[in-house]
Amino acid sequence: MTQHLPLDPKDWDQFRASAHALLDACIDRLSQAADHPWQPVPEAVQNAYQLDTHEGGEAAIAQVLASQVLPYNTGSTHPGFFGWVHGTGLADGILSEMVAATMNSNCGGRDHGAVYMERSVVDWTRRIMGFPETASGLLVTGTSQATVLALSCARIKALGKEVRAHGNRDAKLRVYAAAGTHNAIKKAVELLGLGHDNLVMVPQRSIGGAGLDIEALEALVADDRAQGYKPMAVVGTAGSVDFGLYDDLHALVDFAQAQDLWLHIDAAFGAWIKLADQPYQALADGLERAHSMACDFHKWMSVPYDCGIVLIHDEAIHRAAFAARPNYLEAQEAGIGAGDPWYCDYGIDLSRGNKALKVWTAIKSKGTAAFGQSITANCQQAALMGQLVEEADKMALLAPVVSNLCVFTADASLPADQQSVLNKAIAVKLQLSGEAVFSTTKAGGMTCLRAAIVNHRTNDDTIRSVIEAVANARDEV
Ligand SMILES: *Cc1c(COP(=O)(O)O)cnc(C)c1O
Repeated sequence: MTQHLPLDPKDWDQFRASAHALLDACIDRLSQAADHPWQPVPEAVQNAYQLDTHEGGEAAIAQVLASQVLPYNTGSTHPGFFGWVHGTGLADGILSEMVAATMNSNCGGRDHGAVYMERSVVDWTRRIMGFPETASGLLVTGTSQATVLALSCARIKALGKEVRAHGNRDAKLRVYAAAGTHNAIKKAVELLGLGHDNLVMVPQRSIGGAGLDIEALEALVADDRAQGYKPMAVVGTAGSVDFGLYDDLHALVDFAQAQDLWLHIDAAFGAWIKLADQPYQALADGLERAHSMACDFHKWMSVPYDCGIVLIHDEAIHRAAFAARPNYLEAQEAGIGAGDPWYCDYGIDLSRGNKALKVWTAIKSKGTAAFGQSITANCQQAALMGQLVEEADKMALLAPVVSNLCVFTADASLPADQQSVLNKAIAVKLQLSGEAVFSTTKAGGMTCLRAAIVNHRTNDDTIRSVIEAVANARDEV
């Protein structure tokens, strides 16, 4: 008699039938994504999420997943979703996530398929971004984590690998970034024990100018050195979160080299403009010369959450920052315990999920050119949105459209404080009606509507209809 295993299906045939039905529900949902904007989670459903009951097996849980879970996503699968910077996901993700769950690989290291696949994804990214063959990389949760890793490497360059033993001591390290840089940089500086008072905000040239003001940066660094601080890194931005601006990356690299500072580029979504047509592609020129860069697959590359990557120009510094092999992780000559690199030597996590598979599947399935087309189209759609805003009654752009972001106000004829109230109300109204998701940000202290278009399901008609929806909402508010 076979012994009952409590955590495997009791009946594999029944499991198969339930799984097939759930797969159909997933495919139905995604193929009709345009009919399914974000919706609030009803209280009854929230209550049903409580883990005080158990559902009695796979058939029951498959039904609950289809009816009570699947409908309540972030909504970024919808073509009219432009809020924050949210990726759209890919149908290919259904395939890769299914296989990843089945394989259940631990990608911290050792010798197995997923580790080779991660090498291949890191290699591909390295080539796209123009980093040298000797550069190292690691798949991470996202740009926030990647930034911590990159600045840890910068700290090794500044203080040597002994910093792992004795900490920052009284090194008075400083990091420089443009005002308007993403909060991920601040968090990374905090986590490394520098304190965010030591993240020095460098003025922007102007909204829509070439980003970080390098002359101002030079003066700040010189002043800090004179006062006994130790400048450690400059963080440049390729694709700013508020306006989609790109720093003059070549100028930043030249500055960092002259000053012997680490240059990290936050390119969370903006890196992928490297795949776009001109004139967009050239915005990221110079990225390849940075010491490190961070970007996400889960934003403009549409790979299912979560996945980002850090690339480090100098592999030796990367290893010096993180490698550690205690007794229980000693490398073997052969067997599963062989292989090099082990990805745990490049970052924080030891146990790591199979993020490479979903990236690899997306690229193998669609090809680089298809992503380039989609990214170029998003930039053109942002330009179209900007044009429609300029043509529309009362609306006005609040920053030039440089890449894939469009930031505007619905009624420039009102006083600023009333525009803030109006724009916020319109964002909420359109989210609730399901017509479009804009988020908000501030330009010159005033709240405005913001569309960050990283959505492969958007087309020109979507753009026309959401601007019409903004006009209607404004007239109703
Ligand atoms: C999203 C974003 C981040 C943070 O990345 P996560 O993947 O969300 O951790 C950092 N910088 C910019 C410019 C971003 O858009």
